Amino acid sequence: MATQTGKAMVWTAIGAPLEPREYPLPEVAPDAILVKIRMACICGSDVHSYKGEYVGRLKPSKEQPLIMGHEMSGTVYKLGRDVTADYLGQPLKEGDRIIYSYFNPCGKCWACLSGKSPCPNKHRFRKTSAEPPHFRGAFAEYYYLRGDQWVFKVPDALPDETVTPINCAMSTVTYGMHQIRIPLGGTVAIQGAGGLGLSTIAVAREMGAARIIVLDKLASRLALARRFGADDAIDLEQYPTPEARLERVRALTQGKGVDVAVEVVGRPEVVQEGLEMLCPGGSYLTMGLVTGGMFSQVDMERVVHKGLTIVGSGNYQAWVLPKVLDMLVRTKDKYPFHQLVSHKFRLDDINEGLKQSIEGKVVRAGVVPG
Ligand SMILES: [Zn+2]
Ligand SMILES: [Zn+2]
Repeated sequence: MATQTGKAMVWTAIGAPLEPREYPLPEVAPDAILVKIRMACICGSDVHSYKGEYVGRLKPSKEQPLIMGHEMSGTVYKLGRDVTADYLGQPLKEGDRIIYSYFNPCGKCWACLSGKSPCPNKHRFRKTSAEPPHFRGAFAEYYYLRGDQWVFKVPDALPDETVTPINCAMSTVTYGMHQIRIPLGGTVAIQGAGGLGLSTIAVAREMGAARIIVLDKLASRLALARRFGADDAIDLEQYPTPEARLERVRALTQGKGVDVAVEVVGRPEVVQEGLEMLCPGGSYLTMGLVTGGMFSQVDMERVVHKGLTIVGSGNYQAWVLPKVLDMLVRTKDKYPFHQLVSHKFRLDDINEGLKQSIEGKVVRAGVVPG
């Protein structure tokens, strides 16, 4: 019998178009799962990797060809011999829809031992797609899920467009906001209305935010932010200077400033502005400055004399995934989560999806195999 194969679009060099490859489907270890991917999304960090903007992280010469992509969802294609349930004990069978973490905390470093995230060794199983089990990225028909990656069954009520951004965007935001917390009746400013920013609106509201202000330069993104329930949208075209934006934020908060400001735009020059938006004792959460070399000039006197807290957050812990699933089911009619995936591309057409993502034309590009 011929060996069954699956398609992947592989990355061979910075900036080069992804190329189609066929690999044999791997043997599935007793504790592993072979996933048939239903949808992947092109995350901002994929775009950074593709353009070679990560500093000292991906080492192209050693790891290419590589299957990029980490935001995805799929169905169980083949269960390892010993796998009968997800991490909550819910029975799993072939064909069930699942989500899972795309990284592998080591459990042995100081971050893991002290219950912190992210683990610095979380990508230690990343390898070139030329080596078995080949399928370790999202831009492919299959994904090889190791036994130490958290996996959860997906409720039928949620469409793929809502489920797919969970394992990166939505969970990263949820964990970040969990760390910073929102005071009763709190006000929140969100710098950036991309996938992370829109997810932040929903999470902030569910955590009890009373007023949510979103800043972006694209009117279409701000319109979507309004549909997610943002109370105020500040258009950078209309408020082109930091001073004008700060004045607007103060006017919207009775002169106090916001309790929480969130950076999800990936531009280090916005940090000082975000800090200035805070009320005394306020907290600043940064999640978008992910590529290394992201230097911000910050007036630390303001941080000291206003008693500010600055928190950086990346990735998430296992409990976040089922909590997010619950929230999405509970609030699916309240927020247009399915609109986070604004454009869809076939796996074969992923280069066009990458191009449009780089050009900022899409909120989240969905990639659909088959
Ligand atoms: Zn991501
Ligand atoms: Zn670790």
